[in-house]
Amino acid sequence: MPVIETTALRRHYTTPVEVVWKYTRVVIGGGRPVVVQSMTNTATADVEATYAQASELASAGSELVRLTVNTPEAARAVPEIRARLDAAGIFVPLVGDFHYNGHKLLTEIPECAAALSKYRINPGNVGKGSRQEENFALMIEAAKKWGAAVRIGVNGGSLDQALLGRLMDENLKSGGLLTPQAVLRKALVESAVQSAAAAEALGLPANRIVLSCKVSEVQELIALYRDLAKRSSWALHLGLTEAGIGSKGIVASTAALSVLLEEGIGDTIRVSLTPAPGAPRTEEVIVAQEILQSMDLRSFTPMVTSCPGCGRTSSDLFQKLAEETQRYLRRRAPEWRRLCPGSESMKVAVMGCVVNGPGESRQADIGVSLPGSGESPVAPVYIRGEKAGVLKGEDIARQFQDIIEKFVFETWGTRH
Ligand code: SF4
Repeated sequence: MPVIETTALRRHYTTPVEVVWKYTRVVIGGGRPVVVQSMTNTATADVEATYAQASELASAGSELVRLTVNTPEAARAVPEIRARLDAAGIFVPLVGDFHYNGHKLLTEIPECAAALSKYRINPGNVGKGSRQEENFALMIEAAKKWGAAVRIGVNGGSLDQALLGRLMDENLKSGGLLTPQAVLRKALVESAVQSAAAAEALGLPANRIVLSCKVSEVQELIALYRDLAKRSSWALHLGLTEAGIGSKGIVASTAALSVLLEEGIGDTIRVSLTPAPGAPRTEEVIVAQEILQSMDLRSFTPMVTSCPGCGRTSSDLFQKLAEETQRYLRRRAPEWRRLCPGSESMKVAVMGCVVNGPGESRQADIGVSLPGSGESPVAPVYIRGEKAGVLKGEDIARQFQDIIEKFVFETWGTRH
C-alpha cells in the first residue's frame, strides 16, 4: 500500500523505528504518517486460522499484525504462518505478543524469534525480583540478535506491582500529595521509561524501541500519554485498551486517540474493539483508518459525506445510495490504490435534498443530490464543483458508480 504523507503538523518528535520484513519497511515515529496496526484473535497454534486472519487484516490495510505467542505450540506455529504469508506475497511484518514466558519462547524456539519483526514485552509480566531483570535481558538479547524492534507495552491491568507499591510508599512519606490515580499514572510512565532505558543500557538502540502505556479510561489515557510524551522521545504506540464492543468501543477509542493525535502524540495506533460475535476482525483496522482519515492525517479509502436525512427526504433511496456508494468505494479501493494512486483522498458526497445537496456536492470531488419530497425527480451530479449531468430512473446507484469509476481513472490513472 502506498504511504500517504500526513497533512497535519506533527509536533511531538520521536525517534523513528523501522520494522522490516523482506520487501516491507514500516517506519514508526520521526514525524512519519501514523501507522495502523491490529491483532489477531485466533489461537496462534492454529496455523490455518491465524494465517487466514492475518492476511485479512493485512488486506484491510493493517501495516503490522500482532499475534499472541503464549505457548511453545504457538511459537512453533509463527514461522509456519510467516512462510504461508510470504508464499502468498503478503509481507506484512508480524509482531509477537509475549507475557510471562517470552524469554523462554524467544530463546528456545529461535525460528519464532527470527520470523517476528517486533516483540511486544510487558514489563509487568516478565517475572518477579531478580528474574524480572534476567528475563527482560533475555528478550532484549533476542531482539538484538534477530534485528527485531521491541515495544515496551505497559498496561494498567498488569502493572509491575512492586514499582507501584514503592511509589505509593514514597507518596505517603512525602505527605500524600498525589492522588492514588496520579501515583498509578506515575507508575505506568515510570515502568515504561525505566524499561526503555534498561533496554538501551542492554544495547538495544532507541531506533528499535516503541513505548506504550495503555489504560481503559479515556481521560486517564489522555493524561497518561501527555506525561509520557513529556518524558520520552521514544516512538509511541497509542491505544485505549479494552475499549469495548460496538459503538462504545469505537467512540471511546476515537475520543481518546483524536485528542492525542491532534496534539501530535502517537506514532502508531491500534483500536482494541471487542468484535460482535461473527463480526469481522478487520473492523478494528477500518476504524483506525477512519480516525486518521477523518482527522486529515492520512488517506486510505475514498470517503462518503452524507447528510443525516430529515423530513425532506422522500424515501430511503438516499440512505441506500449512501450505503451502497461507501461499500462500492471500499470494495474498489485496493485496485484503485494500485492503478490510480492518490484516489484514496477522493471525497464523494451523497445528499438528500436541494437544501444542502448542491452546495455540499460542489465541495466534494464528486457529489450527487437526490430529490427531496416535492422536488423534480432527478439527481444532479457535480464533478469538482461543476454540474456534470443528472441521474434518473431505477438504477441511480449503478449510474453514479459508473461516473465515479470513470472519474477515478481519468484523474488518477497511471496511464493518463
Ligand atoms: S440536505 Fe436536505 S435531506 Fe439532507 S438533512 Fe439537509 S435538509 Fe434534510
